[in-house]
Amino acid sequence: MSKYWNRKINEAEPYVAGEQPKPGQRVIKLNTNENPYPPSPRVREALESFDIDDLRLYPDTNATEFIEAVAKVEGVKASQVFAGNGSDEVLALCFQTFFEKESNTDLPVLTPEFSYSFYPVFEKFYDIRSKKIPLREGLSIDPSDYVGVPNCGIAIANPNAPTSRALTLKDIERILDGNPDSVVIIDEAYVEFEDNYETAVSLLPKYPNLCVVRTMSKSYSLAGLRVGYAIASEELIEGLKRARDSFNSYPTDRLAQKLAASAVSDTSYHRECIDRIRTTRRYTEEALRELGFDCPESSANFIFAKPPYGIDAETLYKNLRMQGILVRYFKTEGINDRLRISIGTMEEMMEFVDRVREEVSNAKGS
Ligand SMILES: *Cc1c(COP(=O)(O)O)cnc(C)c1O
Repeated sequence: MSKYWNRKINEAEPYVAGEQPKPGQRVIKLNTNENPYPPSPRVREALESFDIDDLRLYPDTNATEFIEAVAKVEGVKASQVFAGNGSDEVLALCFQTFFEKESNTDLPVLTPEFSYSFYPVFEKFYDIRSKKIPLREGLSIDPSDYVGVPNCGIAIANPNAPTSRALTLKDIERILDGNPDSVVIIDEAYVEFEDNYETAVSLLPKYPNLCVVRTMSKSYSLAGLRVGYAIASEELIEGLKRARDSFNSYPTDRLAQKLAASAVSDTSYHRECIDRIRTTRRYTEEALRELGFDCPESSANFIFAKPPYGIDAETLYKNLRMQGILVRYFKTEGINDRLRISIGTMEEMMEFVDRVREEVSNAKGS
């Protein structure tokens, strides 16, 4: 609290990011869903050929080189792509552009009860009413829970975080069909990690109210560059540009635009990293199940696992942390019996499994 802050800042409940280790500290970092592999070699080439003198000039507002690269890969028009400073910024602009403020309407934004923890932060900060829709059996989302519920918008991460469960395109269509007057945000931060991945981008010709949000942070190994994007109808993209230009017209810098474009163009390297992560995910899921964990089938680059009977998730999190292995533990009731474990390299996950095995046998022996 401070007398110099306004009411809104005094009352804000900011997002709490996963812990970042100090420079030089050796840890196995499985707590923020970063990619364990380096970005595409094309990113280094783009960096080496970057002309520092160009930094004298403001960047292109629309990040044209980058959005054209995205449009080409996704089979959409560049006018259907909007780039921002990480998808967190894109999502923040979406909430401000498409959802109603409390003063104008009583209608809430619908989000899954357990989902990306930035959504409730945005809702509070932008004074938007919210309604949390409970998850079903096995942490799944039932699309019918999002139909017939009055709302001013819907935001769903697909695959969902931290649950790692995915909706099918049919499920998403049911939600879109049931809510033609609301914008439906499908946050696809992890979509490429699904085994037979189906992006909602293919639904765009049918649904002007669909806004797909993506990030360069996870599957492209560029969390440090801060580039995210939305793919939607031109009508929605136009709205996002109005919001952007009322706040910061240059959300992505020249270097970020160039490097992100080079990463998007390297589709084969992208595939290769994703395949490796999927293989390692399968190994980790099987190993944890063998140790008695409840581990729903993951469609993401992390798993959301519940330790076997007699082992407390928080204690396991702390014990692993003492041994230099960081995973994510949420104190939130309803999911405080699980750990979210990002998929690292095979070597990292083998070491992780060894440490967990020791913890399990220690707990059983005591
Ligand atoms: C990681 C993540 C993001 C944020 O990505 P940035 O582009 O790094 O801001 C958005 N949504 C979900 C569900 C995420 O897990």
